[in-house]
Amino acid sequence: MRVHELAKELGISSKELMARLEDMGCEAKSNFSAVDEEAAALLRQEAAAPAAEPTPARKEAPPAPAPEPEKPAAAPPTPAPAAPKAPAAAGAKELHTRGSMIVKDLARALNMRPNMVISELMKMNIFAAINQRVELDVIRKIAEKHGYTVVQEKRDAEHKPAPRKRAEETEAEEEDRPEDLVPRAPVVTFLGHVDHGKTSLLDRIRNAQVAGGEWGGITQHIGAYTVQIDGRQITFLDTPGHAAFTAMRARGANLTDIAVIVIAADDGLMPQTREAIKHAQAAGVTLMIAINKMDVPGANADRVRQQLQQEGLTPEDWGGELICSEVSAQTGDGIDHLLEMILLQSEVLELKANPKRRARGFVIEGRMEPGMGPVADLLVKTGTLKLGDPVLCGRHWGRVKALMNDQGVKVKSVGPATPVRCLGLSGVPDAGAEFRACHSDRWARSQAEDVAGQSDRDSLTVKRKASLDSLFEQLETEEKLELKVVLKADTQGSLEAITHALEEIRSDKVSLGFVLTGTGNISGNDVMLASASNAVILGFHVGKEAGVDTTAKHEGVEIRLHQVIYELIDQVREAMTGMLAPVVEEDVIGRAQVKQVFPIGKVGIVAGCLVVSGTIRAGSRIRVKRGDETLYEGSIVQLKHFQDDVGEVRESQECGIRIDRFGDYKEGDILECYVLKEVEQTL
Ligand code: GDP
Repeated sequence: MRVHELAKELGISSKELMARLEDMGCEAKSNFSAVDEEAAALLRQEAAAPAAEPTPARKEAPPAPAPEPEKPAAAPPTPAPAAPKAPAAAGAKELHTRGSMIVKDLARALNMRPNMVISELMKMNIFAAINQRVELDVIRKIAEKHGYTVVQEKRDAEHKPAPRKRAEETEAEEEDRPEDLVPRAPVVTFLGHVDHGKTSLLDRIRNAQVAGGEWGGITQHIGAYTVQIDGRQITFLDTPGHAAFTAMRARGANLTDIAVIVIAADDGLMPQTREAIKHAQAAGVTLMIAINKMDVPGANADRVRQQLQQEGLTPEDWGGELICSEVSAQTGDGIDHLLEMILLQSEVLELKANPKRRARGFVIEGRMEPGMGPVADLLVKTGTLKLGDPVLCGRHWGRVKALMNDQGVKVKSVGPATPVRCLGLSGVPDAGAEFRACHSDRWARSQAEDVAGQSDRDSLTVKRKASLDSLFEQLETEEKLELKVVLKADTQGSLEAITHALEEIRSDKVSLGFVLTGTGNISGNDVMLASASNAVILGFHVGKEAGVDTTAKHEGVEIRLHQVIYELIDQVREAMTGMLAPVVEEDVIGRAQVKQVFPIGKVGIVAGCLVVSGTIRAGSRIRVKRGDETLYEGSIVQLKHFQDDVGEVRESQECGIRIDRFGDYKEGDILECYVLKEVEQTL
């Protein structure tokens, strides 16, 4: 008997029959494949069984990629199964039973199809029909094989979960059945140095599709778009730059599968290129390189390869693993190759998602639009989002009123790895927030209200991510810890010295991981990266950019600044070996601005300054800043008010400042005077 014949007999689609056969281990390649006799008998038996489990595609199911009816174990309206209880779906996989179970209920509890259970039983030489009972020891064997622990309940045990609890169970992570997982499109982000061509590449790729006639010529900017290449899809996130990338990640939105680092062939690797690479590596996404601007006369792709090599990233054509594609966003040359490489790479990644489950994903952008209300651009990560679905998104909720794709076309549903504009939420969600479709809008609403209340409370308490002090506390909950570090230093030389010294530290319990090492002041980007990676920031001879403290406080990121290498090393060592000494913090007590520079004979150079705030104190530490840059850290060796040596000078007074071994002042430099104070450890 052929597949299509049996499907007709059973009243199901060939496709479904093939899926079932596959479940039973008798794969059928096509409609015309022959069906194993035994399997056919089993399927007939199942179909004939009274009170059989609802067969998905039989009557009520709509055509084509029909969403599965709610999984029995997860759906609230399901009448409680006669004797045994449905599994407590939350968290650990447990199967609760009072003893023997009917095959159908066992299958339901294990989230399996009954025929799969029947064929497993057959392997154990037990020939049970769908409505027959199996004993506890058999249940155990099958359950354990599928990762469940069997919990035997007392017969009279009162087990009535509170209504709230039940709601949680309902919304507990739906398990993806392996057979429901289908390949999905890769989600790609362009990162790289400013002006290297990220936006131009995004435009080029999108316009080629529009011009290629596959689109109606209209594009809708929804923060991401998809392109089709020979029937395969790629989704590009339309917000290039690692700042956006990392900010999203700090919110928990790991949207990207592949980061394409764009490097201009005439410019080569620049500081932001290195930073982008670090951010992508920290996120654990797959890296690829687009060497752009190949049309420019000074283009030198091999120099770029060489620079990558020096970063420890060996290009594929030089025997390494890193795919490099030479392109020009200007002429379009090489773009096809780049897209091909992306597809190839995504094949290697074997990206899969389950379109049958309720949708989950992330907000790319949210805003209020006149006449439309809150608009959210979403990227569905898994599942299918449909019109009318109740949706929960942080403190907002609603029913999906309208969906519009990246071509501005209204759609009824969207599957995994697809961006979509969604109307119907109660408010404007944050970029990076997670959304999920729910079984009921009542539940979505109550959750949203809970979140709103919770986040109001949260805003009053500073959240703490990683901190040196609390490192060992975390050990109580985790076996092995990694102290993640973002390290910023004034020069490449000190950076290398510190990295090297830190790597030397050995601890049984804590290992060290660098999320980013770089030169320059601590930036908001560094804070977001640390937040996303749960890292602490260590600064050596560097300052912080404006606003960094506020962001760090908000994100719960710890920043420690040091002026002396061994202090920094010691502190990390102490943290890693569990003996953290009191914290030394700096306190800026005054700032002076350089008005004039005097070379004074043998003693050196004196900066004539005006104290712009606070007090400058002789003998205290001082830092020379030009704009955002810290040029030097040292101490004041001489402080003069007119001709006199003085102990301190106050705001709006003039003074002469001489610092140990520094004289390279410029008018306008700011001298920041600070003291170090010991602060008791906070845990
Ligand atoms: P982004 O900052 O990385 O997004 O860079 P843009 O895409 O804005 O590009 C910066 C500049 O480089 C723009 O003036 C582009 O026109 C130019 N540009 C980008 N790609 C190419 C290219 O392949 N060839 C040439 N000649 N110019 C390019």
